Amino acid sequence: MKNHIFFYALLLFALFLSGSLSADGQITAIKAGKLIEPETGTTAVNQIILVENKKIKAIGGGLQIPAGATVIDLSKATVLPGLFDCHSHLCQMTSPGDRDLFTTDIRQSTAYRAIIGVKTAKEMLEAGFTTVRDVGNNANYADTSLRNAVENGLVPGPTIINAGRIIAPFGGQYHLRPERVELGVPEYLFADTRDEMLKAVRENIHFGALVIKIVVDDQKYIYSSEDIKFIVEEAQKAGLKVAAHCMTEQGARNAIEGGVASIEHGFQMSDEALELAKQKRVVLVGTDFPEKDAEYLGLDPKTALLFHNIFLDRLKRAYKIGVTMAYGTDSFFDVPGETRGTLAISYLDSYTEAQIPAKYILQMMTTNAANLVGVEKERGAIKVGMYADIIAVPENPLDNINTLKKVSFVMKNGKVITQNR
Ligand SMILES: [Zn+2]
Repeated sequence: MKNHIFFYALLLFALFLSGSLSADGQITAIKAGKLIEPETGTTAVNQIILVENKKIKAIGGGLQIPAGATVIDLSKATVLPGLFDCHSHLCQMTSPGDRDLFTTDIRQSTAYRAIIGVKTAKEMLEAGFTTVRDVGNNANYADTSLRNAVENGLVPGPTIINAGRIIAPFGGQYHLRPERVELGVPEYLFADTRDEMLKAVRENIHFGALVIKIVVDDQKYIYSSEDIKFIVEEAQKAGLKVAAHCMTEQGARNAIEGGVASIEHGFQMSDEALELAKQKRVVLVGTDFPEKDAEYLGLDPKTALLFHNIFLDRLKRAYKIGVTMAYGTDSFFDVPGETRGTLAISYLDSYTEAQIPAKYILQMMTTNAANLVGVEKERGAIKVGMYADIIAVPENPLDNINTLKKVSFVMKNGKVITQNR
């Protein structure tokens, strides 16, 4: 009997330490002046959102705020679900103009890369990005460590769906020297034969990848549609989707035929390829660099503008054709006066320049993104039962999408990250 009491006392103490006792039953009530549902593009006014145990418990206009609830007054603001970036590189950072990612990648240890991730993850979250799909270039699984650290509450950051190491044909995105081939590792998992592809997918999953990222066509030899289908099926067996970096028309066509979930970049996709992507329900994560961000790639202003215009043209065509698009930035720059979050939100400029309607941009950043990364039942909307990933901005983004650059409140998993700036 004594043993039992001791055991329960210990259990209670453990529960107390883990915070589950104090969190249990603690309700937060958010007064939302305006509440946006991106999926329908509608706005409700004067809503109350009740949050309990990380999740949304109730939403309504005439809700009674329970006694003892913590009240957050956002009655003068517009409230919406947290944003998504479907193409982040949290553990990679270069100075603007440094085009030589290879030497940057081999100079920095995995530990250093993880510390970069600690900084960028916090910056993304503070800018309103509560979920990211992180698509590789994280040395030796710095991304898995970062995700674990965020999930364990060691450091603040978005929900991370990480790709681990990028799987690619020999050489990856590098140009190696014959006598130092090993320098391409660990950044990439080279996989040319079926056996290597199988092993690469499994090894990646074993070390924490939640999505598989492949580079289809950064070499003269590219993955065929059969190669890609093989990788997609192997990933699927473990419940993972595949994101495919495609720079060429043929690469994009192979990826679509191979059944990937998303095409990353796809800058050179023809109308026919975009049509094909639409038919096969492949999502385009366009990473449409604004002019300024294209310069950070190390391009002179004239070339940056040229590239930006190519991106813009493809963006307009993709929207017109009706390919499902999700927001993704590909930002890995360290720019004075900017954070990774402010850089990521600056990609809005491309979408406004291409005259994509605000409602669709919002869907790219929430609904479409949540569907793509596979968390649509948990995140990407403010609905009862979903995680409380909630942000606030001064104006209604359906009227002025640029208000997303002024996020004043961020809640992730029911926890307030930033409030009032
Ligand atoms: Zn990228």
